[in-house]
Amino acid sequence: MARPLVADIDLKALRHNYRVASELAPTSANMAVIKADAYGHGAANCARALAEAGAPAFGVASLEEAIALRDAGISQPILLLEGIFDAGELARVEMLDLWQVVHSDWQLEALLAYRPARPLTVWLKLDSGMHRLGFTPEAFVVRWERLAAAGTQVATEGLHLISHFASADQARSVQFAAQWSTIEQVRDRLGCRICVANSPATLARPATHAAWNRPGVMLYGSNPLDGALPVGVSLDPVMTLRSRLIAVQTLEADEPVGYGGRFRTAGPSRIGIVAAGYGDGYDRHAVDGTPVLVDGVRAPLAGRVSMDMLTVDISHLPAAKVGSEVVLWGRSSTGSVLSVDEVATHCDTIGYTLLTGVLPRVPRRFL
Ligand code: PLP
Repeated sequence: MARPLVADIDLKALRHNYRVASELAPTSANMAVIKADAYGHGAANCARALAEAGAPAFGVASLEEAIALRDAGISQPILLLEGIFDAGELARVEMLDLWQVVHSDWQLEALLAYRPARPLTVWLKLDSGMHRLGFTPEAFVVRWERLAAAGTQVATEGLHLISHFASADQARSVQFAAQWSTIEQVRDRLGCRICVANSPATLARPATHAAWNRPGVMLYGSNPLDGALPVGVSLDPVMTLRSRLIAVQTLEADEPVGYGGRFRTAGPSRIGIVAAGYGDGYDRHAVDGTPVLVDGVRAPLAGRVSMDMLTVDISHLPAAKVGSEVVLWGRSSTGSVLSVDEVATHCDTIGYTLLTGVLPRVPRRFL
């Protein structure tokens, strides 16, 4: 029998979550962000499912990610969210009919020096206050006017303002308010179409919904907000990281478990050994008490995560035995749900990193 760890990818849940985004922003075109192999879920299969649910376009981080999608037969528009990394990429961008973000002057100059057969679709990046990528408002207006006048290189009808929020997840954020005000000012000055709403803004900032939005993590069932989802909104987990108990240890009180003996049994205990570890992408920062589901019932992590195994206290689960199902996050066969976001809080991280961190040796099984 094969090692039992798999990442089950529920494409029905993915389609459901996409429809949630569409219902929250019914007048926007909602581009699905599927960079980093669809946040670890498998980009080609996710793209097909999202297209079935109505996704009109996809966002990725690099030309390589876009090529993989085109090779898989994905024909929808694909936006390179960071644009090109090298002027030499423009020929492939044109050949594969990709859309590109322009965030820097060197990209702008490379584009204006390039002679495409047909005008290219360009989204100009405004740095509205995150100070990661993009042009300051004054510089943005100048670049916009140059692009709008470029004619043969740039499809003027495809020109959009794109910007990214640093704190849309926080309910009361001064930074969010300042960024949104900057975006509104530039939008009103140029009368341009914009794309600014990521998942938190799609979920909780309806004022930012525009010609385009670009939700990512919510499509995979993770809640990026610093609080609960809005009333009436329900997301389904797409990935279930599922394994089994491969051994059970019966221990006396005050016995150590795992590397460094971090965990010691409080009393006579049964410890289940699970086939999953940091060599699969399960976070080694998980503290004792991090929940897993054993046959659908919560059980706490007990001891440090090893490369290929982790240990859980199953003293309260007398029926648990070798072969019992263990869900690290997602939905158990009994229907219980453990959200990746809850696991992330025990690892001092966010759902995004756990999902994207599942390593290639874990087979993805598409359901
Ligand atoms: N747009 C850009 C430029 C991003 O970098 C990301 C994600 O990091 C997204 C959209 C999607 O964000 P989220 O996953 O929070 O929806």
